[in-house]
Amino acid sequence: MILGAGFGGLELSARLAEDLADDVRVTLIDQNDSFIFGFAKLDVMFGRRGPDEVRLFYRDIAKPNVQFRQETVLSIDPQARRVRTDRATYDADILVVALGADLDPGATPGLVEGGHEFYSTQGAESVANVLPSFQAGVAVIGVLGPVFKCPPAPNEAALMLHDYLSERGVRDAVTIHLVNPLGSPIPVSEETSAAIVSMLAERGIEHWPSSQVERLDPAAKVAHLADGRRLPFDLFLAVPVHRAPAVVLDAGLTEDGWIPVDPATFATRFPAVYAVGDVTNAPVPRAGTIAEGEAATLADVLLATLKGRPQPPPYSGAAVCYIETGGGTVAKVDVDFLSGAEPTAVFTAPSAEVAEEKRRFGSVRAQRWFGD
Ligand SMILES: Cc1cc2nc3c(=O)[nH]c(=O)nc-3n(C[C@H](O)[C@H](O)[C@H](O)COP(=O)(O)OP(=O)(O)OC[C@H]3O[C@@H](n4cnc5c(N)ncnc54)[C@H](O)[C@@H]3O)c2cc1C
Repeated sequence: MILGAGFGGLELSARLAEDLADDVRVTLIDQNDSFIFGFAKLDVMFGRRGPDEVRLFYRDIAKPNVQFRQETVLSIDPQARRVRTDRATYDADILVVALGADLDPGATPGLVEGGHEFYSTQGAESVANVLPSFQAGVAVIGVLGPVFKCPPAPNEAALMLHDYLSERGVRDAVTIHLVNPLGSPIPVSEETSAAIVSMLAERGIEHWPSSQVERLDPAAKVAHLADGRRLPFDLFLAVPVHRAPAVVLDAGLTEDGWIPVDPATFATRFPAVYAVGDVTNAPVPRAGTIAEGEAATLADVLLATLKGRPQPPPYSGAAVCYIETGGGTVAKVDVDFLSGAEPTAVFTAPSAEVAEEKRRFGSVRAQRWFGD
């Protein structure tokens, strides 16, 4: 039983369909009827594509041993591996929690009243409705917690906002600020960070690293930072505080807010209960390609366990991360967090070729996860 049909749950169910079709019956549960790639939310936010163009419907999953159910998980008993949803109660032989990270806009006082989050599909859609009437003033892209999905995304949003406003001929009337608690855009890669910092500077985007917004004053339209600075704004676009879903917190699966796992196998402390993706505290950033790699490793672990074979090599933490840099170009960084003594990262400069590679990345996954 797999809870959550995001990057992690979809990759795991595809692998179990490929490798264990005769041995395993998979029930895949998600509260939504469709999946949207995280990066597609940026396209929605800037009106490049409508939400209906980027949805991949779970009803199209065509794998004989995978049954998708659109249900909301209400409780998890990890000891008994019992899951209660709004429709049924399930007893699983093997339970995998891949419920991702929830957004908590309410955790930052004033955000709900005075700003707009762009990290959910609904949030990206509502920003797409607000942006066309924004003509002049101060736009802030603010990251509100130190742990968030896809560290490049707020930088991408700033670069894309620059393009969007330039195309509309109002860029000169807008000051863009990027406020981020991280010390650099991509902490694992100095080269990638330096490239992003210079792209921001070339476009006149004010970059405030190591800066934490604590609250917004919606009436005065001022963001208050932890170090006492104040940043007046006309438009505040937020990456909200992230948390494990409440159902996971209530299940007693977490420590310090996230599910502790063995980073080699993704086992939790409960027998036959595993967790992958953003919901875990694995020592890697939260990203789709990371969740996918974890799920692939877990598929190998389950295959070895069920077939009585030696356990596979531990998860390497290797992943590729694409970065929209504007003007139709995309950069990438190939990271490897866990193979060696220190993480490594190889940066590839922005180009139209990498943009095409990113497009293929999406279509290959759409076919693998939703095809037969
Ligand atoms: C703007 C943006 C851009 C991004 N760009 C990239 C990128 O370029 N590359 C990249 O690798 N990553 C990117 N990401 C990050 C990526 O989307 C996430 O890290 C990834 O989706 C995590 O996968 P996951 O399987 O752990 O969780 P998710 O994909 O979030 O899936 C969790 C699923 O669980 C479901 N769920 C949660 N609670 C319940 C419940 N109670 N009952 C039933 N279902 C439930 C949710 O509906 C969801 O479908 C981006 C994210 C954003 C927001």
